[in-house]
Amino acid sequence: MIKTEKILHLKSSRGRKVRVVREHYLREHVPCYSTLCQAGCANDGKVLSGEVTHYVVPDAGVLRDYLEVLEFRELQGIVLTQTACHSVQHSRGRRQYNRLRGLLKDPRYDCVLFANEFQKYSYCPREKGETQDRWQTRCVYHAAVWYHDHLTGLKPVVMITEDQAALAEYSSLHCGVYVLSTQDYLRTFWPELLAAQELYSSIAQALQERGGEGSEREYVDHLPAEILEAGIKSGRFLQGTLSVNRHRAQHEAFLRMDASNKNTELNTDVLVCGGKNRNRGVHSDVVVVELLQRSEWMGRTTALTDQQGEEGSGEEAQSQPMPTGRVVGILQRNWRDYVVTFPPREDSQSQSRTSQRILAIPWDERIPKIRISTQQAETLQDHRVVVRMDSWESTSLYPSGHMVRVLGRVGELETEVQTILIENGIHLAPFSDAQLREMPVSSPERPWQVDPEQEASRRDLRESHLVFSIDPQGCEDVDDTLSVRSLGRERLELGVHIADVTHFVPEGDLTDLEACARATTYYLADRRYDMLPAVLSADLCSLLGGVDRYAVSVLWELDSHTLEVQSVWYGRSIIRSCYQLHYELAQSLLEGEGGQVPELAQIEPSERDARLARLTQDLETLTRIARHLRARRDKGGALELEGVEVKAQLDEEGNITSLVPRQPLEVHETVAECMIFANHWVAVKIQESFPQQALLRHHPPPRQQVFSQLIDSAKARGFSIDTRSNQSLAESLALAQDPQDPQFNRLLRMMATQAMSNALYFCTGTCPRDQYYHYGLALDRYTHFTSPIRRYADIIVHRLLIAAISLDKGVGPGKPRANNKELEEVAHQINNKNRAAQRAQKQSTELFQCLYFRDKDPQTDPGCLSDAIVYAIRANGMLVFVPQYGLKGAVYVRSREGLVLRLRRDGGCEWDSGSVHRYPDHISTSTSSGTSTFQLFNHITVRISVQASRCHSDSLHLEVVSNKPHQPSQPQPSQPQPSQPQPKGRSQLVQEVLLQAEASQRAQDERAQGPRLSREERQFCQTARPSLYSVLEEVRELALQTLAL
Ligand SMILES: [Zn+2]
Repeated sequence: MIKTEKILHLKSSRGRKVRVVREHYLREHVPCYSTLCQAGCANDGKVLSGEVTHYVVPDAGVLRDYLEVLEFRELQGIVLTQTACHSVQHSRGRRQYNRLRGLLKDPRYDCVLFANEFQKYSYCPREKGETQDRWQTRCVYHAAVWYHDHLTGLKPVVMITEDQAALAEYSSLHCGVYVLSTQDYLRTFWPELLAAQELYSSIAQALQERGGEGSEREYVDHLPAEILEAGIKSGRFLQGTLSVNRHRAQHEAFLRMDASNKNTELNTDVLVCGGKNRNRGVHSDVVVVELLQRSEWMGRTTALTDQQGEEGSGEEAQSQPMPTGRVVGILQRNWRDYVVTFPPREDSQSQSRTSQRILAIPWDERIPKIRISTQQAETLQDHRVVVRMDSWESTSLYPSGHMVRVLGRVGELETEVQTILIENGIHLAPFSDAQLREMPVSSPERPWQVDPEQEASRRDLRESHLVFSIDPQGCEDVDDTLSVRSLGRERLELGVHIADVTHFVPEGDLTDLEACARATTYYLADRRYDMLPAVLSADLCSLLGGVDRYAVSVLWELDSHTLEVQSVWYGRSIIRSCYQLHYELAQSLLEGEGGQVPELAQIEPSERDARLARLTQDLETLTRIARHLRARRDKGGALELEGVEVKAQLDEEGNITSLVPRQPLEVHETVAECMIFANHWVAVKIQESFPQQALLRHHPPPRQQVFSQLIDSAKARGFSIDTRSNQSLAESLALAQDPQDPQFNRLLRMMATQAMSNALYFCTGTCPRDQYYHYGLALDRYTHFTSPIRRYADIIVHRLLIAAISLDKGVGPGKPRANNKELEEVAHQINNKNRAAQRAQKQSTELFQCLYFRDKDPQTDPGCLSDAIVYAIRANGMLVFVPQYGLKGAVYVRSREGLVLRLRRDGGCEWDSGSVHRYPDHISTSTSSGTSTFQLFNHITVRISVQASRCHSDSLHLEVVSNKPHQPSQPQPSQPQPSQPQPKGRSQLVQEVLLQAEASQRAQDERAQGPRLSREERQFCQTARPSLYSVLEEVRELALQTLAL
């Protein structure tokens, strides 16, 4: 080893230049991390593939400015030098450096780190008078040459640089080592990767523009890092996340405080008013705020604005002054990809013929306009485009950014769906070839078979147990199956058998990493994106009837009479499901109405009857056990939050996004109860085996004040709701029935659900024992074990359970790999992804609702009139729920112009001058011609129309037509009651919209002109569009999942 000195010129955080001398050791052997290595390097871990045409070595400048381009997974064989990486660390900060490290760690990217500065023959010391940039470029070039020679010229090596001098000097110096500009490189080697080329030019342009910026300050400079830090320590400054009010995005933002704050007197948010005080803070950034003088404090605006719906408290104008501050510094930018629309032609300020600077308008109202330069401002009118923000200087009124890619035309289904995914941070590239190569083969020619080794090591239940599944009709991915059998007179055995996904997905495989990144299967209104490739989710891990499958089983031995658990067995098994039942069939067998069991169709009658009797008996036993389990949980205070006939879908805040009607079949509850039982027992097992590192799911008890709306509303109808415990809540909800109107109880349950927080995953080692409790299910420990095909949490839990079993046996590793901190991070990421998935599902439902109503004339189309129920009273209107379309929103009785709604004698409404009076259980308007009243929980008629928006999402607008229930003008005999939700309403809605979208797509294909669209437009679609029925069933299932907690 040779010792030398390395001299660095660094910049301190105050901008001072510092000269640092470091000892530097050189070695002969530094791993090259290439599979082609002939020299016997110690290449542990990730290595570069040999199946590429060349290797590419970006220099420091390229890595600094064009990292995004290198992040295209299509690019392969990338060698990152230590020199270039250090330069990124010093000049671009921790965030970009972490991205770089992520890239190097992630096996899905074909790139490695070569420690060129430790390699004796590739290191070159800096020469006197040489600039840092020049020296770094020279180092990278020497690294490229060494790499080429080290691999004995087996692969050409391309160095890419933006440095003109380097291009001239090095391009023909060494045979087999090419030096190209990034642009030439992309054009030569990746001509088909247009998206990368476009991204390159857009970044290049943004860099160029940034050079020529004005110097006049628009904002106060941010304070230096050490002053911010000291200020936070002393309590003078406050640190937190900036949250912009969507409805008053220009004016109002709040600081949501971190736990780290020293100023403990403040336990509210801090208001930040106006752009100057926000001082370039962007929604979700971590910022530092200084409080203003008390005399300058202001109140938040709380008047109901349009579209505000649920959120406004209904108090007029400004409330009490609250702590108010201004942003003095930014600790962390949490910028992401933003979908934007270009301004209309007349608004864009032309700068030159080839390039235009425009202010793009983000889809998310909370994000400021972004200044970008583009040559396509004209052609991309009416398109949605993805941009990234680069910087926000104090001299610029708006942040600057660059274009990443084009999504498609505004208003088209694909564009809008992709917009929803991107805005929720959901990235779903198709499964890569490398990932799919990890998958087992299963084709008609080479059917998958049970491995004899597995057969020997697993408990074989194929002959001994009658296993069956009960799922929605048409379900492809059967996660769970059940069995029940008698063990003599005194004992019963209940079995839950779950697909053994982790057998096929080893920890750390590409498929595992991708599944972890996705965290869940995504269900949108018209499609789904699977967490696992189809060969697993729809085939090998789907516990289909009549085929051998690996499973993880839990078998309980119960006392036949008391049904108390005597013992429990956990382990890997092989099963062959005998019957693949659907809910309706199972229920009809239970009720003695018979039914066609497909598996028995070909069997002779006497045998068939015997088998049917056995199956029916099993179903009955199962029902008996489930009733017992349910009754025991009910005693503990389990909540049935959703109505029996309706399941609500919720978003992250617990708002109801729609109601999914379903038949009230007991067998639903039976299956759900068995799954809850299995989840609970697995939770107990893994928590006891790994007290510090088990993944559980808890549901925190709600704060009492969130129930005020529920209590007040119920009181208006003469019912009292007791929210002191989950048990009293469940009991009082059950009593609050209006025999005249089944919707009343339903709405109360929705309001109760809405008031609660969501259940969350957590790691046992990071949470006090008394917080493990699951409030909604009334269980002391709970987790998710029963759906490993579509939830990553279940995959982790399966691994923990398998590790716990090995621990008991004293074999195998016995210990889960992740420590509790890592596990907590994964839990956090899964919680975030679940929230994103729910938000995306909600937004896609709203999208379909808007697309459905878009082409209807609200004045003439009878479909636009609907029954609605008032469920809350506000100062200037009411919140209503529309069962037919599963939507909710605000209706106003006072217009923005100050007119109030007056009911005519014929039941119609019109606007007039007058006043509004609000009471706990009704709201009334007074005009010269009388008083009109709207009662809480009454049915009224509303008109639904679309409020179109070019830059943001469209929204639905509701207005009162009459304070009487809706009477359809031509009653259809097939409709039960106007107030009943119609089971087919939503599916028809989705179908109609899809047909429209297809027709317009065809029309467009025929025209085949217009601006070039991005190739990625459709590539994210992975699942062939399944039948509408199965999609709706899945959405329904998901709703169950969400609420079943
Ligand atoms: Zn080597």
